[in-house]
Amino acid sequence: MALDFTHDPARRAWVASAQAAGSDFPIQNLPFGVFRRRGSNEPWRGGVAIGDQIVCLGAAQAAGAFEGVAARAAQAAAAPVLNGLLAQGPAAWRALRHALSQGLCDGVAAPQAAALRGALVPQAEAEMALPLAVGDYTDFYTSLDHALNIGRLRDPANPLTPNFQWLPVAYHGRVSTMGVSGQRFRRPWGQVMAPGAKAPVLQPCGMLDYELELGIVVGQGNAAGEPVALDAALDHVFGITLLNDWSARDIQFWEMLPLGPFHAKNFATTLSPWIVTMDALAPYRMAWTRPADHPQPLPYLESAGNRAAGALDIQLEVWLEPEASGSAPSASRLSRTSFRHQYWTIAQMVTHHTVGGCALQPGDVLGSGTISGPGAGEAGALIELSKFGREPVRLEAGGERGFLLDGDTVVLRGWCEAPGRARIGFGEARGTVLPARAA
Ligand code: MN
Repeated sequence: MALDFTHDPARRAWVASAQAAGSDFPIQNLPFGVFRRRGSNEPWRGGVAIGDQIVCLGAAQAAGAFEGVAARAAQAAAAPVLNGLLAQGPAAWRALRHALSQGLCDGVAAPQAAALRGALVPQAEAEMALPLAVGDYTDFYTSLDHALNIGRLRDPANPLTPNFQWLPVAYHGRVSTMGVSGQRFRRPWGQVMAPGAKAPVLQPCGMLDYELELGIVVGQGNAAGEPVALDAALDHVFGITLLNDWSARDIQFWEMLPLGPFHAKNFATTLSPWIVTMDALAPYRMAWTRPADHPQPLPYLESAGNRAAGALDIQLEVWLEPEASGSAPSASRLSRTSFRHQYWTIAQMVTHHTVGGCALQPGDVLGSGTISGPGAGEAGALIELSKFGREPVRLEAGGERGFLLDGDTVVLRGWCEAPGRARIGFGEARGTVLPARAA
């Protein structure tokens, strides 16, 4: 998509906190979430983050902030989940973004500014919910560096499966245990087969891990049997969240052959509460390349548009906060990378998902797969950083980890920045490991 006035880095909001240094939510971002006042029985409803405030879309609409297509979009977004807005498609999403950017812009006597001012709720007084009724969740495996790191631990001579360079590998995940940032879950139980043992045992996971991923939120769907062409794929994507695909490695390695992860992945998945739209991410799109000596994509996964701007430069970090023991919890950064290294693009994931006739629906979530970059300290999971737990990671704040301990909180963060562009952020996806249920 082309850049427009909403991306102008000089644009400022009349909400002063939107201009604060390091704010994730300047006027160039305008991400969507679902909230209510903390501790209240108010209905959950859609809102847009600006600085440290939330624009309640229903209240703004009732006060006359929007007209036409934008008004219809705001009406749909006032519901307890955003699926209705997602189904309206890119023209509606864009009209609402334009209207919000105009009404929130400082120094412009926009008639809708008063209606928006009356619809603000401080984020400090709000609680957030999962913003979607997620029908289906598919988790991909599309980072070459992650696949190589994991593959070399398994078989140094043949680290990649034969399909990896030909298609975006994926499995179907579980929605019922998906939660929003702040999720707390018990360490899972499962069957584990110890090396050299004759029989597996049922026990709490001993190799609990996280996976740094993005959650790609499907906007408008496609009909069964009608594949989405590569150059139309991003019209079907509303936006992106951070996603932690918590993983039980000891359970995973015993159970996953031949049909894929099951207990190892179905106990918790944590999303960040704000969906950053593809429109907001437009300034950070980059050329996508495939090394000339690698297999090149089949024709249905190849296009000039995907080559020119298929990649996204999203900066990502993983932090670990051990359970506080008396003093304040101290956080350590475990890794930092960018999504720009991913071997397959978001458009290729969408197109491949539908090429066999599968229907995507508004609110479906596609996990990007663990995001690992090529350098040291760029791996998106502990199993890579600690070499299967054999070389525990030293924490900046003291201690070390091979895998996660009870009480550990993992925080994913993400943002985009580029010369001549505003910095926009994703907020965070935070989740905490509780002890396993007693036997
Ligand atoms: Mn995953």
